[in-house]
Amino acid sequence: MNSRRDFLQKIAASTIALPFVPLYGAARKEAVKQPYQGPVLRVAIMGLGGYGTRVADAMRDCKMAKLTGVVSGTPSKIKDWQAKYGVPEKNCYNYENFDAVKNNPDIDAIYITTPNALHKDEAIRVAKAGKHVICEKPMALNAVEGQAMVDACKTANVKLLVGYRMHFEAKTLEVIRMRNAGEFGKPLFFQGLSGFRIGDPTQWRLNKQLAGGGAMMDIGIYSVNGARYMIGEDPIWVTAQETKNDHVKFKEGVDETITFQFGFPGGATASCLSTYSMNGLDKFYLNGEKGFAEMQPSTGYGPILGRTHKGELTQPHVTHQTVQMDEMAGIILQGKQPVVAVDGEEGLKDLKIIDAIYEAVKTGNKIALQL
Ligand code: NAD
Repeated sequence: MNSRRDFLQKIAASTIALPFVPLYGAARKEAVKQPYQGPVLRVAIMGLGGYGTRVADAMRDCKMAKLTGVVSGTPSKIKDWQAKYGVPEKNCYNYENFDAVKNNPDIDAIYITTPNALHKDEAIRVAKAGKHVICEKPMALNAVEGQAMVDACKTANVKLLVGYRMHFEAKTLEVIRMRNAGEFGKPLFFQGLSGFRIGDPTQWRLNKQLAGGGAMMDIGIYSVNGARYMIGEDPIWVTAQETKNDHVKFKEGVDETITFQFGFPGGATASCLSTYSMNGLDKFYLNGEKGFAEMQPSTGYGPILGRTHKGELTQPHVTHQTVQMDEMAGIILQGKQPVVAVDGEEGLKDLKIIDAIYEAVKTGNKIALQL
């Protein structure tokens, strides 16, 4: 019996037989679809709160990223997550022992979703353990901390990525493509409005020690970052003004509302608002010599809605964190280059701008920026 000939005959028979098996619609698509067999980024989430949960749920639909571990100070949450996401016991850590992840071959990266003030030390420990760092925005409390994170990851030869999910969002990327193709002409003006009414006054977001500030650190950063990716340049100066109506809720060092303005090297300007006291403020507007783009909502979890002078933006909505984690896996595992950077240097630029905004508020001066 010639097994090789048998094998080839079987193959030939099956290929001949295929056209006689009618497959339509979804069944056909399913049959044609090849299961993904490429590399997968194995991720542990640190800080099992609201956003960490959102990322974990979104990762269920990822092709290239998988939740394999957790870091938490709350044993009951670890148990819940083990049951919900199938995380094995050997991949569960707390804040005292997570440096031991160094010896765990089943975790490639740790995604930090803890309060802002904890990001710096945690990221440096993750880097020292030889794992890639994905860190939520704001990357740290200020540029000095951000630089320390960038340096630590460079020394450890690991990647540092910041959770800028909008950098992978389809309608946002279409506006950026149109701008790069010259469809708006020279960009002249950006308006960014970012805010919501914050509730519970005891939450960490209103605690200067944990948040590093107020609305600017949490939501204003979307307009800071958005001004840069919508105009396509980094600002060279900033001015800013603070308004505080509720001094009980928004204590010293916790900003309620800040308006800020940027100037860009190409001559464009930006005018933005960051607030914790107005609801549903989520709007970007870009104006150029030949056209405009308007997005509202512009940075929420979506669907993002928008139009340009050429009509409505129609790119389909996909859960932002699913796309982000697949794309970040591509960056880490395959050296993929995103259209808009999401690395530590990108996070650091926003921290330098936010430092300058706070300085402008304090001094009333126009602050020059060199990014
Ligand atoms: P959260 O309060 O829901 O979760 C924070 C988690 O950190 C909790 O599980 C808490 O137990 C844990 N934690 C660990 N140490 C802590 C400590 N010392 N004090 C308080 N909590 C501690 O907050 P969140 O909304 O999940 O935000 C977490 C991070 O994610 C923040 O940096 C925030 O800016 C960011 N975030 C990003 C987005 C986005 O769209 N990219 C959205 C929401 C939050």
